[in-house]
Amino acid sequence: MLSATGGAAGQSGPSEGEEICGHCRRSIPQRSMTMHSLRCERNNFYCEICQKVFPKQDQIKHMDLVHSEYICECGEAFQQQSLQDHRRDSCPLRLVPCSYCPLHINQIARGPHQAECGNREALCLECNQTFKRKEMQRHLIRSHDREKHSISFKDWL
Ligand SMILES: [Zn+2]
Ligand SMILES: [Zn+2]
Ligand SMILES: [Zn+2]
Ligand SMILES: [Zn+2]
Ligand SMILES: [Zn+2]
Repeated sequence: MLSATGGAAGQSGPSEGEEICGHCRRSIPQRSMTMHSLRCERNNFYCEICQKVFPKQDQIKHMDLVHSEYICECGEAFQQQSLQDHRRDSCPLRLVPCSYCPLHINQIARGPHQAECGNREALCLECNQTFKRKEMQRHLIRSHDREKHSISFKDWL
């Protein structure tokens, strides 16, 4: 009996005497199709998303690991890996620091918070003068020779 599994040439449709298995989408010799179908449905699982065949026993693990969707608190659905990236980089509910105070707020709320927060008065710890928080950075650079990146809410009260 000839081996029916030889060659990676099955991509361009069935060759003569072969048929595409409706389950695994592989090209199978017609005469072994009946046998193949029986075994194929029992042993293989065709993932519609990857368009690849996997052993049946890996089906649950595969769907879980590769294709399950996780819902972020913001309501968007992601696969596991992208959910982590989303939470870190782009979720509107991720916590980001305020530029003017020690608070961490939802990214989506930072604009309004900083507008209010930056307008509050604060005391410069270097010269005890009062400024709005949003003007503090400029003040520290101009009057106290500070580098922009070294300035934080710890410089004022
Ligand atoms: Zn098959
Ligand atoms: Zn898949
Ligand atoms: Zn989110
Ligand atoms: Zn603030
Ligand atoms: Zn000052």
